[in-house]
Order: sequence, then C-alpha cells, then structure tokens
Amino acid sequence: MSRQGRHEGQGNEFEPQRTRRRQRGGTVDGRRWTQIKSRSISAFIRVYPRLIVLFFTLRPPRPLRFSYFFALLVSLAVHSSAQEPNVPNSHPPEAWPAARELDEARLSAAGISVLRDGPLTLVTDLPLSAEIKQLPRVIAAAVPLFAERFDVPPKRAAEWRVQAYLIKDLAKFASLGLLPEDREFSHGLALGREVWLFEQPSDYFRRHLLLHEATHSFMAMHLGGCGPGWYMEGMAELLGTHTWDSQTGKLELGIMPASRAAAPYWGRIKLLKESHQPLSLSAVLSLDNARPMNNEAYAWVWSLAHFLEHHPRYAEVFHKLPMRVTKPEFNTRMQKMYGDDWPNLAREWELFTRRIDYGDDIACEAIGFGPTEELGAQPITVKIDPRRGWQPTGVRVAEGDRLTIRGAGQFIIGREPTGEPWPCEANGVSLEYVGGSPLGELQVAIDDRDSPLDALGGLLQPVPIGQARTIVAPLPGPVFLRVNDSPAKRADNSGELVVTLSRAD
Ligand SMILES: [Zn+2]
Repeated sequence: MSRQGRHEGQGNEFEPQRTRRRQRGGTVDGRRWTQIKSRSISAFIRVYPRLIVLFFTLRPPRPLRFSYFFALLVSLAVHSSAQEPNVPNSHPPEAWPAARELDEARLSAAGISVLRDGPLTLVTDLPLSAEIKQLPRVIAAAVPLFAERFDVPPKRAAEWRVQAYLIKDLAKFASLGLLPEDREFSHGLALGREVWLFEQPSDYFRRHLLLHEATHSFMAMHLGGCGPGWYMEGMAELLGTHTWDSQTGKLELGIMPASRAAAPYWGRIKLLKESHQPLSLSAVLSLDNARPMNNEAYAWVWSLAHFLEHHPRYAEVFHKLPMRVTKPEFNTRMQKMYGDDWPNLAREWELFTRRIDYGDDIACEAIGFGPTEELGAQPITVKIDPRRGWQPTGVRVAEGDRLTIRGAGQFIIGREPTGEPWPCEANGVSLEYVGGSPLGELQVAIDDRDSPLDALGGLLQPVPIGQARTIVAPLPGPVFLRVNDSPAKRADNSGELVVTLSRAD
C-alpha cells in the first residue's frame, strides 16, 4: 500500500470495542454496560409517551398496576434499544480507550521524541525542527475553532486531549508497540484519543493531515460520532484546509486556498478539475469510508462540505448537523431539513462542480432563487451587482418568447495591481476574456430544470447581451442575469448595471 497513493486506507476508523478487547480485555464489560445503560435510557425517553398511552389502555387492576407498569417499561425500553438502527461511525466517547502510556526514556533511546504541550501530545521520530515544534500551537489554536464549529461549550472543549504519532519509520513505532493492532493506513488514522499520521512532503500537508485526524478525534470525543462517511471525511477535510501564521499564531480553518502554492501537496482541486465526470449530490452523499476511499473521493467530500459551509442559503442547516451525527438516517434527515430548497441546492452544487477552482467565492456566486412571474406587457427593470454571479430577475419566459434586454450604466470590473479601477459598461472590456467572453459583458441565462445545465441558453451556456439585444428564449423558465467575471475575482468589483427586460413581440 503506497503512502503517497491514498490519503487514508483506514476503512472504518470507528471500532473502539474491537480495539479495546485486544488491548485491555478486562475493562470491556464495564464499559459495554455503560453503553447499554445509556442506550436504554435514551430508548426509554423515546418510548415514554407510548408507554403512558398503553398503560391507560390496558387499565390493569390496582394491586397489579405497579408490576405491569414496570414490566412494560423494561420490555419496551429493551425492545426499542434492540431495534435501534446502526448509526455509522458512532460510539459513546467512554467506549474509546485512554491513550496508551508512553515510556519516554525507552522512546528517547529509540530516537522518538515526545512533545507535550496543551491538548496535543506529539510522538515522533522526526528531528524536532521549528515546524514540528509548533504543531502543538496549531492544535491548541484549533480547539476554540472546533468548539465553535461543533457547538461544544469552550470549557468542555478545553478538556479534549489527543495523542498523535507522526511517523517516518513505521517499523520503529511497531517495535515499540505504538501502532493500532491489525490496522493499516496509508496516510492517517484516528481512533478516539489517538491518531496516527505519516510524515508528508510539505509543511502545509503535514499540518492539514494532523488537523484532519484531530477533527475526527474531537468529533468522536465530543459528539459521540462523526456521521456517515461523506460527512465524517468531509468535515475533517474542511477543517484540515487552513491558513497558519506562525508569527502571530493565527489559524483559519475551512478556507478555500487562494492558489496551488497556498496548499502544496493538498491537490484536491487539481483532482476535481481532472475528474472525468462531476459527481452528483446523491453520489457524494453515498461515499462511504467503511471501505477505503481514494484521493478523488476525499476531494469530492471536501468540496461538498466546503460548498455547504460557505453558501449563504445552505450554511444554516449544515451548521445544525453536528448534533445529529448519532441519529439514524442522517442523509434523509438532512434532506428533510432543506425542504423545498433541496432541488435548488442540487442545482447549485452541479454548477459549483463545473467551475471549481482556487479562490472560488461561493457567497459571491450564490444564486438567489425566488418566486417568478411571467414577463408581461410592461417592461421590468432590475439592478445587477457586478460582485455577484447569476441574479434573479423575478420573471420567467416561455420557450420561443422574444425579449429585448438593455443594460445601462458604468461599473467597476477589476483593478490594476496599483488599485486603479477598470471602468466598464454592459459590452464588457476587451482587455481580458473569461470563459471565452469579454470580462464584464452582460449575459442572460434561463434555468430550465428539465434541461441539462449546459443546454444552450442555460446557466452554463449563457447568451451574450452586451448593451442591448433582442433574443428568442431558447428555453422556458426563470430568467437570470450577470456580468461576466471569474468566480475568484468578483470581490473587487463595484457599482451596478441597470437592466431593462421587455417583450419584443
Ligand atoms: Zn479521515
């Protein structure tokens, strides 16, 4: 198994019982009883209302009432507990063993250092360079960010500890009993309070992988689980993608790298751009880490988590998911929570997969879907913001309708490195082309949900308008407008374009 070829070949990272049984046989029963007890209590809370109804329906004779009630309580709780569906990657935190104890003198004699600082105990055979020595600061800086993201009270989050093995020579760790039993991994592995990772070819990717495994550990210990495979790995990739300033100690998580140079050896965007077929929403949701996932699968789960994390319309629901990781049918519940927005989400996801690139600004490209009216005899006027991608006009058309679109006004479509603005009108500027069309050009698209995104006149094949043009609607549906720009470069635009739409027949 190549170390470089796959991110993690860990299979399911969540088998604390099996690991414990081998490591500390005697303690299993006590821990399992705790687990069974907590399940029974939660099962009782769920069945309690049903129990009351049943009790009053049966109306047992007075002397037997207490015995009946007790028997019902026990049988229903046990039955409900037995019926509990299997929730992937979910275990009570107390089911994880304590991190193994370290014989530091023995480790030191074998060339392995132990750094204890804040939440991280780092065990490594690498020379203690300045970069390695600051890893505990990175993890300490991550804790309040994890706490905020997973809605864990800061005081509780501060109790979290993780023991990380950063490995160059695997045989050395094996000979000292520092590896998980019967578990192979190609890049990293997390099992509760302990995580393992191989040395990586860049400082960025070493930190990334440590943050990835630390995310698994934090979720396991504070949420009692990590959710289905796509969510577990998606969140770890999301919170692994970072910027770190070693001077100030400032850590940012969940960022979109500005360029390839900002995240050496991370490679997720390159993989997505080279992917033959973008994955649909349902295909990403069914990616399962119970089987080894390849790098491309990690790239897809990262991109979905990143998209949902930063989209102004979909982030609110996404941020509520951590408290649901131990509940069954996570994906179905999530879809229900999005309600009528689910088809919009799937549509925008599809658009995102086609344009994904370094620096992509999801908030700028977010589409404001809303109610529409048929374009009537009266012209309508809308203001188009050059800082945003596709914007709704509030009107819809039928296929074959003739409509005239005019754009008036001047706006700023970019800046020189000196900060000098580039003024622009609806025709765009010919100094730069984006997607084969002039930068700043006014464009129209119709979102017909029965047609593929790349249908002519759809959101991926818009019709150029410029200052004024009469077109025959190539599709039926809601009408959207934008000025042409790269999704990574809208933030420095300003001003607005006033656009009039009218029927031409
Ligand atoms: Zn992972």
